[in-house]
Amino acid sequence: MSEIADLFFKPKINRGFFYGGGFQNPTCEETIEVHNPATAELFTHVSVAGKDDVTAAVRAARAGFEIWSKIDPIDRARHLRKFADVIEKNIPNLALLETEVTGRSIKEMHAQMARIPEWVEYFAGIAMGLEGESNVVKGGYVTMTHYEPLGPVALLTPWNHPVLILVKKMAAALAAGNTCVIKPSELAPVSSLVLAALATEAGLPAGVVNVVTGGPVTGMELCGAEDIHYIDLTGGTATGRKVAAQAGERLIRSTMELGGKTSIIICEDADFDGAIAGALFSAFVASGQTCVSGSRFIVHRSIYDRFTDALAVRADAIVIGDPMAEITQMGPVISKASQVRCLRMIGKAKADGAVQIAGLTSPDLTAPFDKGFYIRPTIFKDVQSDHELFLEEVFGPVISMTPYTTEAEALELANTGNFGLGLSIWSRDIARAHRLSLGVRGGVVWLNDHHRNDPRSVWGGVRDSGFGKENGWDALKAYTTKKSVVVRTAPGYDDWFAGSTRYG
Ligand code: NAD
Repeated sequence: MSEIADLFFKPKINRGFFYGGGFQNPTCEETIEVHNPATAELFTHVSVAGKDDVTAAVRAARAGFEIWSKIDPIDRARHLRKFADVIEKNIPNLALLETEVTGRSIKEMHAQMARIPEWVEYFAGIAMGLEGESNVVKGGYVTMTHYEPLGPVALLTPWNHPVLILVKKMAAALAAGNTCVIKPSELAPVSSLVLAALATEAGLPAGVVNVVTGGPVTGMELCGAEDIHYIDLTGGTATGRKVAAQAGERLIRSTMELGGKTSIIICEDADFDGAIAGALFSAFVASGQTCVSGSRFIVHRSIYDRFTDALAVRADAIVIGDPMAEITQMGPVISKASQVRCLRMIGKAKADGAVQIAGLTSPDLTAPFDKGFYIRPTIFKDVQSDHELFLEEVFGPVISMTPYTTEAEALELANTGNFGLGLSIWSRDIARAHRLSLGVRGGVVWLNDHHRNDPRSVWGGVRDSGFGKENGWDALKAYTTKKSVVVRTAPGYDDWFAGSTRYG
């Protein structure tokens, strides 16, 4: 059995960290348990990287950088396309692994994984077009610009889309000529180690993709490492504040992809059935655990009762259970702590006076899934704009419904709070949909759809949802610095201290 196949068939072995082209033994014995959220059973252990491990991984990334950054972009793209091919071949196994560790249904994982190689192919392609400019300027000079990579960069990822979010970041960073040290979430760390091994299998030089595992302390060590020159985090807003402060202290640039509270405006002229289907997808895909999960619905009063009733019927029909079963439409939430948080927020919504219209019964599951961290798709109507459920990110399948009458009211509700990530607007009136899109605060607005993601479709938030962009040229260029080279073409030279008057 090849080493790669071994990773998939014996994923429960703790192989340590991955840097310098291979698995490396940890310097200390501390480990973290990784559980299968569908059964609460122990899946594996991973090691906690301390300062020495992080230092060794960053050193490996520096050695990798000395090779990778000097490879011509056309040849680098060839390497990355090979990496995309290797990922593609391993999609079925990656999907199984992700389902086991995150509890996401296998149907979802197959659909998501099928698109992962596109990010690598896309950034490999556009990086070949990363061309500088040249200008002839006043006084006899030619200026030219070169895009240069930054060096080893830190990629800190969450547990909700471990492979997708990592590949989005990694593809841009590597295509621009950087190397990376990844610190995946302690709740879903295994697929990052596997991806690093796949990068080596694809022939990427040692030290280009490196992974250390651990929790926030390991993350802080990595962000503080002297030879890290960019920090790209996807995580919660509280984490973002700490990591951005650390980057600021060190004067290195960063991207912060943080939390959100996604509003969905349903106008009275929306395609009713399309809006119901879109609402279900936005709210309950990934068990409501995406940063753009449709979590607060702002519905025109004239269709409010009909819409909420129809949505409740569809939500109650969602099949929950074994994530590995093809018929399962929704798995558990990631952890006991997440389940407890959802249940607490459900209790608070009731106490605040909102009316629960879906998810009224407990999940009825047989062993071993009766121990899993399940929450039924849950809907509250008549949620007020000062309720916790309207304001705070649940990160689980619990959503709110609030009626509006005027467009101004819809916008005020949609812009309540300080998040600004994704929103969607459902209306058949194109002028109205655009008008509303101009009035909402957020980084990504979908009209008559939700949560569509593509390597070319720029993604990122504002305010408490963070800053910086994933996808597109913005993401690639963020991983570079533009150097300006000024060439004198004027004859002779100027001698200021001998009386020359030319300045600038
Ligand atoms: P988290 O903030 O708990 O952890 C994210 C990563 O940061 C993990 O690897 C974690 O170990 C690390 N970390 C935590 N504290 C750290 C510190 N002080 N220094 C360095 N690293 C630290 O987030 P999570 O629970 O894994 O993910 C859920 C959150 O991510 C939600 O709020 C969700 O909205 C957000 N998210 C945002 C996007 C986006 O595109 N904006 C996408 C997915 C998830």
